[in-house]
Amino acid sequence: MKIETEEISIPLLIEKEVRLFIKRIDKIHPFVSGNKWFKLKYNLIEAQMQDLDTLLTFGGAFSNHISATAYAAKEKGFKSIGIIRGEEHLPLNPTLHFAKQNGMELHYLSRSDYRKKTNPEFLELLKAQFGCFYLIPEGGTNKLATQGTAEILEANDTQDYICCAVGTGGTIAGIINASTAKQTVIGFPAIKGIDCIEKDIKNWTSSTNYKFINTYTGKGYAKVSEKLVEFISEFNTVNDIPLDAIYTGKMMMGVLDLISKNFFPKGSNILTIHTGGLQGNKGMAERLGVKLPS
Ligand SMILES: *Cc1c(COP(=O)(O)O)cnc(C)c1O
Repeated sequence: MKIETEEISIPLLIEKEVRLFIKRIDKIHPFVSGNKWFKLKYNLIEAQMQDLDTLLTFGGAFSNHISATAYAAKEKGFKSIGIIRGEEHLPLNPTLHFAKQNGMELHYLSRSDYRKKTNPEFLELLKAQFGCFYLIPEGGTNKLATQGTAEILEANDTQDYICCAVGTGGTIAGIINASTAKQTVIGFPAIKGIDCIEKDIKNWTSSTNYKFINTYTGKGYAKVSEKLVEFISEFNTVNDIPLDAIYTGKMMMGVLDLISKNFFPKGSNILTIHTGGLQGNKGMAERLGVKLPS
């Protein structure tokens, strides 16, 4: 597969003598964007092989995974059920509106019930309620997802550093598995509390050529600072590349800050992964009353 990689050209990079690239996997599909396309790929094949006609998954109200799964399910002829954290708010935000429009049946769970989402007895109750389904965990992360995300990094991606945003860790795990020992993979968590992810990641990869940098999470997952909004807007003006406010914006802000602090040796080639997530900007911008690119 040919996925476009662009080189960023700004004065800071010349000054620091590093080269910075961005791999635009956000462009892989208009609605099943970025890493979510790769995470779903083998899960959809597996669901077909198991002869299941319904996908059931979990997510928050702005979840890129929910919107991607809804569209991918429709495209491949599955029914889809989305179990959403929290109460229903009407009118639906753009993410949930899109999911529903594409045929996803939405159900809401209180935050305390939502925490049971991996509990086998709870999943049995869901089967009693909805019939047989192929379960895709929250965020789409499982073993088959990491098989898909390993395809994000291709043989010609030979940069010294690979940088990507981290939620559940399924994406970076695949990338680590596809990287060579000479490369260093750097994860930028979007959420505080990286300990769980660091543990989870060991289930998906045995390589050790990676690190997490958790100083660019901002105030947490869906917290968007004014500084971040400004950064995304300026980055879009200068480079004509839209970033999202939950994942790729924080990652890119972190990478440029690290470059300015001489974290990367002179002569380094750095590849960032644009994991997508732009669908979330609309709802986030509406909620916060700010401008974000789409
Ligand atoms: C879901 C998502 C991530 C996080 O992926 P994980 O596999 O959960 O770590 C990163 N970037 C974007 C844009 C996403 O939508």
